[in-house]
Amino acid sequence: MPFVEREDVGTTLRRKLTPHRRLQVWEKTGGHCVLCGRAIDAGRERWIAEHIRALELGGLDVMENIGPAHEACALDKTGEDHRRTAKAKRQKIRHIGAEGSQRPLPFGRTSRWKRKLSGQIVRR
Ligand SMILES: [Zn+2]
Repeated sequence: MPFVEREDVGTTLRRKLTPHRRLQVWEKTGGHCVLCGRAIDAGRERWIAEHIRALELGGLDVMENIGPAHEACALDKTGEDHRRTAKAKRQKIRHIGAEGSQRPLPFGRTSRWKRKLSGQIVRR
């Protein structure tokens, strides 16, 4: 089955694979899937050059980070990578303070009201 091109969702620039590089990817593992470890029957199964560490998770578009993978295995991993990326982005947004809390503390810094040590509630 043919090599499958995938849509680019990454943040690292992705170079187009030449047939020669595709062969290098294949030869790296001798045609074994980098995700499940089983042999890929290239005559029957679709396979892609998988980025072992996803580009969107900071992986590089270099030969060391690419290996052959069954298309089905890669789809699983891609879904998982997207989940991890979304979570990492949410965490970073919160960490750098780009977004307020969804559940601010009552009388907290973002509240319009403040409670003094005496217990008196006043407007900020
Ligand atoms: Zn596999």
